[in-house]
Amino acid sequence: MEFDKIRIENLEIYAYHGVFPDENEKGQKFFLNAILYTHTRKAGKSDDLTLSTNYGEVCEFMNTYVTGRVCKLLETVAEGLAEAVLLKFPHVAKLLLEIRKPDAPIAIPFESVSVQIERGWHTAYIAFGSNMGNRDKYIEEAIRKIKEHALCNATQVSSILRTEPYGGQAEGEFLNGVLEMKTLLPPEELLEVLNQIEAEAGRERTVHWGSRTLDLDILLYDEEVISTPKLTIPHIDMENRDFVLEPLCEIAPFIRHPITHKTIKQILDELKATQETYAIK
Ligand code: ADP
Ligand code: MG
Repeated sequence: MEFDKIRIENLEIYAYHGVFPDENEKGQKFFLNAILYTHTRKAGKSDDLTLSTNYGEVCEFMNTYVTGRVCKLLETVAEGLAEAVLLKFPHVAKLLLEIRKPDAPIAIPFESVSVQIERGWHTAYIAFGSNMGNRDKYIEEAIRKIKEHALCNATQVSSILRTEPYGGQAEGEFLNGVLEMKTLLPPEELLEVLNQIEAEAGRERTVHWGSRTLDLDILLYDEEVISTPKLTIPHIDMENRDFVLEPLCEIAPFIRHPITHKTIKQILDELKATQETYAIK
C-alpha cells in the first residue's frame, strides 16, 4: 500500500556538530527536512491524533536529539536520529531525513551542503533449526535474543516441527520453525546478528548441511533479491524444503516469493504434489 506523508521542512536547530574544533565550540545553524512515511487514513477519518504521528512532538524530539550530542559527521547525526525517530514513533514505517549545514566551513562560496538518508522498518522471515544437544533450549534462547535485540522485533513465531535430516549430511531429528520479524537492520547486519546468536549456541561450521546446535537462515527480506558471496535472498533452497515452507505457510501463507511471485501456500502445495518422501513427522 502506498504511504501517506507527513513533511517537516527546514526545522532550524543550533548545534555543535563538525570536524573542526571551531565548529564544536561556536556552533552553527542546522536545518532538518523530514518526510515521515505513515498511514493517515484512520486519523483522517476519526480526527484522533493518537492514530497519527504528532509532528510537533517529532520536531521537539529531533531538536533534543540534535542538541544533545556533538558528532563530527552529519552522517552520524542523521543515522542516529533516523533510528531514534523510528524507534520512538510507532506509526512511522519509513523516514526520509535531510540535515543541511548552510554555514559549513568551506572556502568557496556555496549555498548549502547536506546529507540525506532513507531508513525504515523491514520485514524478514527467519528459519531456525536444531538437531544437536538441548534443541528446545537453543531455539528458545535464539527467539529470546531476537526479541531482546533493540533493532529487531519478533512479530510471529510458527509451531515447532520435528523433521528428518535434510541433504544426507546430518544425523538426528531436527526441530524446525520460522519466525517473522520487523527490523531496522539491513540484510548483511541482520545476518551478522544471526551468526552471532548461532556462535553463542556453540555452533561449529564443519560439514555443510551437517548436524548443528542452531541454524538461523534468512528466508525473505521485504521483496529484496540479493546475491552476494555471503548472502542469497530469497534463501536459495527454500522452495525444496517442506520443513521451511510448512512453518512459513502457517504464519504467512499469502506473501509472495519475489522472483517466482508464487504465494508460500502455492509453493508448498506444489512441493507436496511432487515430493515422494515427506520429512515432517
Ligand atoms: P545452511 O544454512 O545452508 O545449512 P550454513 O548455516 O552453514 O548452511 O551457512 C553457510 C553460509 O551461508 C553462511 O556463512 C552465510 O554466509 C551463507 N548464506 C547465504 N545466504 C544466506 C541466508 N539467506 N541466510 C543465512 N545464511 C546465508
Ligand atoms: Mg544457515
